[in-house]
Amino acid sequence: MYDPNNIFARILRKEIPCSPVYEDDYVLAFRDIAPKAPAHILVIPKGAYLDISDFGARASAAEIEGFFRAVAKISADHNLTQQGFRAIANSGLHGGQEVPHFHLHLLG
Ligand code: AMP
Repeated sequence: MYDPNNIFARILRKEIPCSPVYEDDYVLAFRDIAPKAPAHILVIPKGAYLDISDFGARASAAEIEGFFRAVAKISADHNLTQQGFRAIANSGLHGGQEVPHFHLHLLG
């Protein structure tokens, strides 16, 4: 069950601040508050999805395309594509997911 009061839902509603790096109709991307790499960006869909499996199962084709087009743009704009980077989606209890709104970590 999606919790509409999770911290990323609150960031999307502008109830709490973030350090944004990119936003469009489909995604918001912002800097992780506790970076694990020199560049650590979180990309989240604007829709209410629990994790990557929920996103893949329920999101529209436009949302899925919009999400991954944004990942491509952000990774290029932040010089991640050129140097190489990790993209991680922790999912659920055994995946160590802390925030129950789908997010992709970009670590470079
Ligand atoms: P995960 O374990 O994949 O759910 O990761 C959640 C990530 O969200 C962690 O890397 C946290 O450092 C990050 N995080 C938690 N709260 C905030 C916040 N208010 N702004 C930015 N990043 C956050």
